[in-house]
Amino acid sequence: MAKIIDGKKISTEIKEECKTVVTQLKEKGKEVCLAVVQVGADPASSVYVRNKTRACEYVGMLSRTYELPEETTQEELLTLVNELNYDDGVDGILVQLPLPKHINEDVITQSILPEKDVDGFHNQNVGALVTGQEGFISCTPAGIIELLKRSNIEIEGKHCVVVGRSNIVGKPMALLLLKENGTVTICHSKTKNLKEITKQADILIAAIGKPKFFDDSYIREGAVVIDVGIHRSGNNKLCGDVDFEKVESKVSAITPVPGGVGPMTIAMLMYNCIKAVQRRVQ
Ligand code: NDP
Repeated sequence: MAKIIDGKKISTEIKEECKTVVTQLKEKGKEVCLAVVQVGADPASSVYVRNKTRACEYVGMLSRTYELPEETTQEELLTLVNELNYDDGVDGILVQLPLPKHINEDVITQSILPEKDVDGFHNQNVGALVTGQEGFISCTPAGIIELLKRSNIEIEGKHCVVVGRSNIVGKPMALLLLKENGTVTICHSKTKNLKEITKQADILIAAIGKPKFFDDSYIREGAVVIDVGIHRSGNNKLCGDVDFEKVESKVSAITPVPGGVGPMTIAMLMYNCIKAVQRRVQ
């Protein structure tokens, strides 16, 4: 029987730990505040923004939400980010992606001060991860490492296959697994013989954005499978990049969708906001 890795439970543990630290900081007179900026009214983004502000409430943090109209210019958005950068009342800044097409996401991401970049997307934080220095780590891969550790799944010496090489999931994921002494292989859309490689994985991270792509033929008996994908199928049900029903009986542990990686992303965002305060007051 596969162990179902309960991201909801583990994320709640992390949020409870965050709550304790937030309370301690409050007792020292320091509130923790996250600013969330959304441009336009993409329904999925609105749900994510709402979930983030709810999580702030849960852990006792302040949140400020800026809902800007779709026609906001890049300059206007940069002006707001700059104000937040130098606002002492704001510890972390998050600009919800995707942004409307007329705004260059990279320009915006790089305009957030690295010490307030709680998403971990700024080049300075990415560079810190590459060289093993202290910095903010992208929340989804950071959450996956927590999921593995808190489920007592050893990474050291294991063959970890990451499928997907995006800047926010695949690449930082591979670096984090390497930091934990995994032997890491990165696959992408140009990889030849994908199945042959994924079948060698002790730990498979599926992050390609294709619903139910990975069935049992991609997976080695007894592997650990982490499903990063989130998709809404025709009947409005959520599913991941992994065909859970076909794979479950073959693996030793697997994350469900929903209730696996998703909740961890927000929990790690809360963790990063607290880290931002702790780094500033040190
Ligand atoms: P991107 O679209 O940015 O990247 C997808 C990656 O998968 C690319 O590197 C691409 O390769 C690779 N890929 C696509 N098709 C294939 C294929 N057939 N075989 C092998 N590799 C392939 O996606 P993200 O990394 O942003 O997100 C991945 C998934 O995770 C999405 O479903 C997204 O919704 C979800 N997600 C979930 C989060 C959560 O909190 N649970 C957070 C963030 C994302 P190439 O580089 O060659 O194009």
